[in-house]
Amino acid sequence: MHFISNLKSVLESPINAVIIPHKNPDGDALGSCLALYHYLKHNKHNAQIISPNEYPKFLNWLPGEEEILTYNHNKTKAAEFINNATVIFTLDFNSLDRTGNLEPIISQSAAKMIRIDHHQSPDDYAELMYSDTTMSSTCEMVYNVLKVLDMGSINPAIASCLYTGIMTDTGSFRYPSTTASTHRAIAQLIDCGAQGATIHENIFDTASFDRLKLLGKTLSNLTKIKDLPVVYMTLTQSELNAHDYRKGDTEGFVNYGLSLLGIQVSIIMIENEMEGKIKMSFRSKGDFSVNAFAREHFSGGGHINAAGGMSMLSMQETVAKLVGDIRNYADQF
Ligand code: 5GP
Ligand code: MN
Repeated sequence: MHFISNLKSVLESPINAVIIPHKNPDGDALGSCLALYHYLKHNKHNAQIISPNEYPKFLNWLPGEEEILTYNHNKTKAAEFINNATVIFTLDFNSLDRTGNLEPIISQSAAKMIRIDHHQSPDDYAELMYSDTTMSSTCEMVYNVLKVLDMGSINPAIASCLYTGIMTDTGSFRYPSTTASTHRAIAQLIDCGAQGATIHENIFDTASFDRLKLLGKTLSNLTKIKDLPVVYMTLTQSELNAHDYRKGDTEGFVNYGLSLLGIQVSIIMIENEMEGKIKMSFRSKGDFSVNAFAREHFSGGGHINAAGGMSMLSMQETVAKLVGDIRNYADQF
C-alpha cells in the first residue's frame, strides 16, 4: 500500500504525534486512536490522544484510556500539544468540523496531517490518507496498517482496542460491512490477546437501572410514519432528566426500530436543551442512504446505513420537518 510506505518513512525518525477522534467519540474512534497510540509509544515516539469532548463510561476500561486528554476540560494543555505536534493523526472522521471546537486549532497547525477513515465524502485536508468506505470500521483499517508495519507489535492492549471498535461499528459483526476479512482480522486479534466475551460484557452489560428504564421510555415513544417503512423515536430533555441521563446512555437505542419486520429506516431525536438543539441519529437497511438524507436535510452525514445530524427547531417542529422531508423519498422504498 502506497499509504503504508509513506507512513513508514514518516515513522523512521521520532515524531511528536497528536491523535484525534471525532467529537462524541464511539468505540471505533477511541479504539483506533488507542491502538495507534500504543503502537507509537512502543516504537519510542511521543504520542497524545486529544478527544474533542467526553465519551461514554462504557469505554472507560479501554487500555490506555486514562492517558486521553479531553479538550473541553484541558483547553490550554491540548492546544499546546497540537501546536508542538509534528504529525497529527485524525481517525474515524471525514471532515475537520467533526472535531467541534478543536477545528480552528488543528487548522492552524503546521503538522503533517494523516487521516485513516471509512466515512463517505472525505475532505482532502490530509497530506497522507487511507480512506476506504467499504471498510467495517477504522479499527479494521488500523489493523490492516499494523499488520503490514509489524504484526508482532499487536499486543493484548492493541488487540483489545481494535476488537472493540470492529465489534461496535459492525453491531457485533452483523452489519453488511462485515466481511470475511473482518472476521479474519478478529480471529488474529483474538490470537493476539483480545478477550471477546469480556469485551462484549464491558460494552453491553454495564448499564445502569436508569438507562434500561430510559430505553423503555424511548420504545414507548416509538412512532411509525404512515404508509412508509420508517419509524422514529423522541426523547425530550425532561424525559432524559427523569432518568438521570449520562452521556452514552442512548447509544444503540435507534437500532431497535430496525428490528421491526419490514421497517427500513429508524430515526431517534434527542433534545439537548443546553446546546439548544436536537441530535438526530439515522439508521437504515438496504439502499436508502441516510447519509444523503441527513446531509441534505439535517446538516449531518455518515455512512449509507448509519448517519447523524441535528436540528435547531423544537422537538415538535423537528418531527414535522422529518415526516415532511422523508415523504419526498417515498419512491425510494
Ligand atoms: P451516530 O448516530 O451514532 O451519532 O452516528 C452514526 C454515524 O454518523 C457515525 O459514523 C458518525 O460518525 C456519523 N455522524 C454522526 N453525527 C454526524 C454529523 O453531525 N455529521 C456527520 N457528517 N456525520 C455524523
Ligand atoms: Mn467508525
